[in-house]
Amino acid sequence: MTTATRTRALFREDAYLTHCDATVLAVGEEGVLLDQTVFYPLGGGQAGDTGALVLADGTRIPIADTRKAKFEGATPDDALHLPAPGQQALLARLAVGERVRAEIDWTRRHRHMRLHTASHLMCAVLPYAVDGCSITADYARLDFATVEPIEREQVEARLAELVAGAHAVATEWITDEDMAQRPELVRTMSVKPPMGLGRVRLLRIEGVDLQPCGGTHVQNTREIGGLRVAKLEKKSARTRRLVLELVE
Ligand SMILES: [Zn+2]
Repeated sequence: MTTATRTRALFREDAYLTHCDATVLAVGEEGVLLDQTVFYPLGGGQAGDTGALVLADGTRIPIADTRKAKFEGATPDDALHLPAPGQQALLARLAVGERVRAEIDWTRRHRHMRLHTASHLMCAVLPYAVDGCSITADYARLDFATVEPIEREQVEARLAELVAGAHAVATEWITDEDMAQRPELVRTMSVKPPMGLGRVRLLRIEGVDLQPCGGTHVQNTREIGGLRVAKLEKKSARTRRLVLELVE
């Protein structure tokens, strides 16, 4: 699969978009590439979106995952929509240039947004470097590089305070050069800031946290809702693992 055209990542401009119309740029065993999409591709610890591509006649092609395209010349925004197993016959009906409607599983994605924003709060609660993170619809798992004990009750109380504080969440952009001069902004050692596009997106939680991030977030910490520390363990001699869950 090769293409000179890049995907426009609509979720980066508005994480609340649940669907969009799009044109098929390429289709193959690797997946479907669109000219624009609301599907977030797995990255920065956050799971890829699921949903469906809907053809003009209403036929739905279930999408089981979204990944960054790896073909030569692919840009970081080029996302491959991976059909659920057994969809080859439906996929064969998709032609380059065809118009489809891309719809994400919004219930699942909104949980990603809440838990992803919560993981930023965690960075404010615990002042340690993060050396691993995974955000799914069920939990946010963070590995902190520290030997210090972590108190579950203290963490939950501080998180509840930050959620109730209704802090605004917004994105801003800085140039690659500015990013290179502000290494202190990077909190997650395992995820490099997305440089190489000329500019880097920062996620600011007003008065709480500021760090480079390309993921999807809610627009106010209040929207995260209740959180609990589901697991707290010593992962290695120098790492403490913490798993957050939403309290419904
Ligand atoms: Zn983020």
